Amino acid sequence: MRILVASLLSFFLIGCLSTQPITFADNKAIAHRGAWKTDSLPQNSIASLRKAIALKAAGSEFDVRMTKDQVLIINHDAVYAEDTIELKTYDELAKHKLKNGEKLPTLEAYLKAGRKYNTQTRLVVEIKPSLVDKNQGVLAAEKAVALIKEMKLQHMVAYISFDYEILKHIRYLEPYAITQYLTGDKTPTELNADGINGADYHISVYRQHPEWIAELKENGMILNAWTVNTSEDMDWLLAQGFDFITTDQPELLFERVRNLMTKKPAK
Ligand code: MG
Repeated sequence: MRILVASLLSFFLIGCLSTQPITFADNKAIAHRGAWKTDSLPQNSIASLRKAIALKAAGSEFDVRMTKDQVLIINHDAVYAEDTIELKTYDELAKHKLKNGEKLPTLEAYLKAGRKYNTQTRLVVEIKPSLVDKNQGVLAAEKAVALIKEMKLQHMVAYISFDYEILKHIRYLEPYAITQYLTGDKTPTELNADGINGADYHISVYRQHPEWIAELKENGMILNAWTVNTSEDMDWLLAQGFDFITTDQPELLFERVRNLMTKKPAK
């Protein structure tokens, strides 16, 4: 009887975990490659993702690449432990652990960690273009979209990429997916015409094209900037009414948001 009750209880809890409601945090902070800096964690590690979730950041960003045997993994550079990711199998690459002892995370392992005890942090999936063949980047995007669908995590993710074709393909596969372009060479009008939901450009692009900020807002598009690590830059973007700010220092951004909210109006 006790076993039956325990198994029913665990079944119920698993059910609750998989269907937990999400209310995305409104602190604007997208932790860049997870929240790694304060605790000196490896970037793009599951530990850095968990830290971003524990901090209740609005989002946690990570980079997806595909191995030679078509396993999606999380790593920023095209090279991991001196091996070119696209030219090696996952098993060959995974012989080398991350510096915190973690196994090189697959996208699946990362998403599993990302949905656990997470009721507020969006998973921001960057699909890296292929170095070898443009189609490989598109294939990586297809596989990521399929896995996210299979894991029923569509409501928790946003997709970003420097490769415009990858983003357009994601829109084709998943018309309701959130997509934001990273390169900064498209006007808001162009993005809008292609069904891309927002811009996630380097802060310098918005300084050069301040008119794009108003244009993005007018079109109801997402305003996001990367990678912003100083109070001065954060304050400027907050004053412009940005939706999200991608940063290596989410704690600093929380402080700037609090500062803005408690600031007394000037007399
Ligand atoms: Mg990235």
